[in-house]
Amino acid sequence: MKLNAQKYADAFMADLIARNPRENEFHQAVKEVLESVAPYIVEHPYLIDLKVLERIAEPERVIIFRVPWLNDEGEVQVNRGYRVQMNSAIGPYKGGLRFHPSVNLSIMKFLAFEQTFKNSLTTLPMGAGKGGSDFNPKGKSDNEVMRFCQSFMTELSKHIGQDTDVPAGDIGVGGREIGYMFGQYKRLRNEFTGTLTGKGLNWGGSPLRPEATGYGTCYFAEAMLATREDSFQGKTVAISGSGNVAQYAARKALQLGAKVVTMSDSNGYIYDPDGIDEDKLKYVMDLKNIYRGRIREYAEKYPSAQYFERQRPWGVKCDIAMPCATQNELDGNDAAKLLANGCICVAEGANMPSTPEAITLFQKAKILYSPGKASNAGGVATSGLEMTQNSIRLKWTPEEVDRHLHRIMADIHEACRKYGTEEDGYVNYVKGANIAAFIKVADAMMAQGLV
Ligand code: NDP
Repeated sequence: MKLNAQKYADAFMADLIARNPRENEFHQAVKEVLESVAPYIVEHPYLIDLKVLERIAEPERVIIFRVPWLNDEGEVQVNRGYRVQMNSAIGPYKGGLRFHPSVNLSIMKFLAFEQTFKNSLTTLPMGAGKGGSDFNPKGKSDNEVMRFCQSFMTELSKHIGQDTDVPAGDIGVGGREIGYMFGQYKRLRNEFTGTLTGKGLNWGGSPLRPEATGYGTCYFAEAMLATREDSFQGKTVAISGSGNVAQYAARKALQLGAKVVTMSDSNGYIYDPDGIDEDKLKYVMDLKNIYRGRIREYAEKYPSAQYFERQRPWGVKCDIAMPCATQNELDGNDAAKLLANGCICVAEGANMPSTPEAITLFQKAKILYSPGKASNAGGVATSGLEMTQNSIRLKWTPEEVDRHLHRIMADIHEACRKYGTEEDGYVNYVKGANIAAFIKVADAMMAQGLV
């Protein structure tokens, strides 16, 4: 970075940290964007005068609320709910809800900030928000999850709406939780609208929404590989996570001719050198989605696999790595192992899974590397398509949705190339995604005046 840009970035970060102390994930997300956009901003000084990035990094509104509920023993439980309404310059707030004990304001703000850029990239008219709770659905009965969701929605319903803020799922929030929250929203508001996405297919959901994040990540990786006249065919793929994103990333990678050898959860990972084929993947889906089991059970069922407790899959030899679990799950050591084992492509399905050290190593080695805000944008994009179908009261076919998804991922890839291609031809997808997304949001904000 040139001196001016570096000075601007340093002063910006110092101020941001002072204003938002101890919010490490939020600082990390802003710093990554800042490093990409600072040179552009200092070349366009009106952006400095209008404090556009300062405004983007300040949520339009943060709602924090109490969520009281009763467990099956009749005991009172209290959790904390959040909704960060980050930016509405290009559309209603849009972004998922996360239920996980680690949820705090820093994580909510980092996710909402990332969402601003991701949604801008989708080409659809969606602003950005994120929310959730420190509630842990693991080990809870369906009735407990329902009571929690109803209490959570009783407050959240005051702040959302189909033209205001449209939440969706994220970690710990899948079809079951969206169903309970939608039911409560409908009861409170007496309206059947598309205020939540990720709904069931028979009640307003879009075909392919569950698949979209994982599929879209593979489409993006396919586009990256194509720039080097390569493809998924015959490649070995390491995937982390075994939830929504990981499951469908695995399925699409298989369909594209790859061999998937790992999946994981927060307790450990399984390595199956024979490959997780369609039948084994179906087992994982039932295990995680219906029986809510643990990934170690895979190794008990399939003797070809080994389970590694409290370890991450990045030491396994693979051509393509797809982190699909959570933030900061792939650090500098992991990146070094992947590179030493010949990995040529890292496509992020999760949000901010690679640490800054890991990203630097990937980019120095000039392998294909895409940040989640670009490669996992297919999920929110298909939520956008669900909103469109709800508004026109029609349901498209899976083929139509898939066509849109393909086109959107190709457009995002193109935007990254446009703004991220360096002098030697290497595409810095982080820089490309950040600059393309920033310009669109900044232009919209300036057009709408100081609000
Ligand atoms: P799920 O809850 O369906 O699955 C999450 C998976 O990640 C589970 O296997 C979970 O294991 C694992 N995991 C969660 N926390 C940790 C942790 N601290 N360490 C190791 N593993 C962990 O969530 P999704 O698949 O929906 O989300 C995964 C990632 O993708 C998140 O970063 C999310 O923000 C991002 N994302 C999701 C989108 C979507 O459409 N769902 C859209 C765009 C991004 P365990 O079962 O043990 O908790």
